[in-house]
Amino acid sequence: MRTVKAYGATDATGPLVPMEIERRDLLPHDVLIAIDYAGICHSDIHTVRGDWGPIQYPQVVGHEIVGRVVEVGTDVTKHKIGDTVGVGCQSNSCRECEPCRQGQDQYCLKGNTQTYCGLDVDGTITQGGYSQAVVTNEDFVLSIPEGLDPAKAAPLLCAGITTYSPLRHWNVAPGTRVGVIGMGGLGHMAVKIAAAMGAEVTVLSRGTKKKDDALRFGATHYVDTNDTEAMAEMADSLDLIINTVSAGMKITTYLGLLALNGTLVNVGAPNEPFAVPAFALIPRRRSFAGSMTGGIPETQEMLDFCAEHGIHPETELVGADGINEAWERVLNSEVRYRAVIDTHTL
Ligand code: NAP
Ligand code: ZN
Ligand code: ZN
Repeated sequence: MRTVKAYGATDATGPLVPMEIERRDLLPHDVLIAIDYAGICHSDIHTVRGDWGPIQYPQVVGHEIVGRVVEVGTDVTKHKIGDTVGVGCQSNSCRECEPCRQGQDQYCLKGNTQTYCGLDVDGTITQGGYSQAVVTNEDFVLSIPEGLDPAKAAPLLCAGITTYSPLRHWNVAPGTRVGVIGMGGLGHMAVKIAAAMGAEVTVLSRGTKKKDDALRFGATHYVDTNDTEAMAEMADSLDLIINTVSAGMKITTYLGLLALNGTLVNVGAPNEPFAVPAFALIPRRRSFAGSMTGGIPETQEMLDFCAEHGIHPETELVGADGINEAWERVLNSEVRYRAVIDTHTL
């Protein structure tokens, strides 16, 4: 066992505080990663604040992890000391169920091990990336390609894959008309990745503050969702919409933007339910779907895709003493577009 410094929650309402956590001794297939950067995902906040149900405290969150391998277990073959690597939302899975065998461990039927708030092999609750080091099974450790800047790559491990996966699943290709609702951490990655796939991208965001950035990230259209006329003009115009909004919303407004056979994929995870009237879907054979992160093989594919296309998240680096303020800024949609913790400051 080793003790490492971390920043975590002691209850659902208070600020995050410095703490020390234990990392297990390496099993034969484990790697020890010295963490350099950890992205702040809105899911970290939902989790700690109990939006999705009660959790145990103390809890360290963070599932957008980039660092270096500093020690390997006796049977490790996939990674070596010195490699730049990443860890995302899952740190293990059953490996036997149908989704696991298909490389879709995010949908493991027995329940995969989440990087934080999961049940670890030693019976403890997993603790996430707002820390100096993590021990992870080699099969759940991603290789960060050379073309990616490690200081910017961390958000790809959740925001990147969570948007890449549905864009691939729904076969986005040149000419596909893709809408992205909400341009935060996930949303801005959806724009960049969909544009790189050749899609015609429309950003749907509140106000006009993010318009110039959206166009710079590769969007061809921008719609202020408060502008009812502009929204009305978008009716029946999109093939695929990715909803990344973190709060409850009136989803019918957006279902109406789907063309015939269009699909709205929800990745945002508010605790309020969506109200979907039958006739928002029936007359245009529309679908309302959901999607969860991505499997390990697809995450590696996404990292390689981003390196090949020169896609980097837009990041704001924060130190340990800026984490609580960064959380507030995420809640106010003020971050441009992902806060990343420099974990050396812990
Ligand atoms: P984020 O950076 O806070 O972005 C969320 C965006 O939603 C904001 O930038 C804002 O966009 C919009 N928004 C926020 N509050 C709103 C409100 N009251 N009304 C309308 N729009 C609002 O969050 P994130 O890290 O991208 O995560 C987004 C959501 O995805 C969270 O719920 C998170 O838990 C979830 N998530 C799901 C998965 C999955 O596997 N499905 C994975 C990761 C995260 P504008 O300012 O542009 O309007
Ligand atoms: Zn996340
Ligand atoms: Zn499984």
